[in-house]
Amino acid sequence: MSTHNIVLASGNRGKQAELEPLLARFGFTLSTQADLGIDPAVEDGLTFVENALAKARHVARHSGRPALADDSGLIVNALGGAPGVHSARYAGPEAIDAANNNLLLKALAGETDRRARFLCVLVLLRSAEDPAPLIASGSWEGEILEAPRGSHGFGYDPLFFDPNLGKSAAELDREAKAQVSHRGQAVACLLDALGRCVS
Ligand code: IMP
Repeated sequence: MSTHNIVLASGNRGKQAELEPLLARFGFTLSTQADLGIDPAVEDGLTFVENALAKARHVARHSGRPALADDSGLIVNALGGAPGVHSARYAGPEAIDAANNNLLLKALAGETDRRARFLCVLVLLRSAEDPAPLIASGSWEGEILEAPRGSHGFGYDPLFFDPNLGKSAAELDREAKAQVSHRGQAVACLLDALGRCVS
């Protein structure tokens, strides 16, 4: 099987750990922008797709190689869609996961509508000037718990409950999460689109 190296336009280790095995099965290896000494892109888009495109283009331009970006986040109904594109920085510019989770619990204190979904947009650019990026997305419906559960995953996983499975995202191991997650679905769509491109 031939391998193709793609630069991942993200420094998020959680995303990297989930994306790597899913793509490896299809002959793709990932380098990260940190491996290549590329600084993060500015993420000031109003939408996930704008941010994903900006991140992928930035890395393709600085690396001269194909780049994959994942822009994702949590959309909470009772919060008008927040934290949304600001999910990584909900509690502040350098916020760690625990601070974001605490703020989310505070924002939802006393709220009975706990509906939420994770969204993931993947953008693959063959070069910085690629006029036809491959774009794929996935969404995962759930509810926000009153207290964290589980120790797997990253980000908001301990607070995100999948009612169909009866488990939080952090109670699923990596493979089980990929079967149902926004990221797992987006990767499947991207691979499908790639297959259609090369066939
Ligand atoms: P981005 O790097 O700007 O795309 O920010 C993504 C942020 O959304 C992460 O830092 C997490 O806070 C959150 N997020 C995205 N995907 C997941 C997931 O699979 N589990 C938990 N949190 C996630």
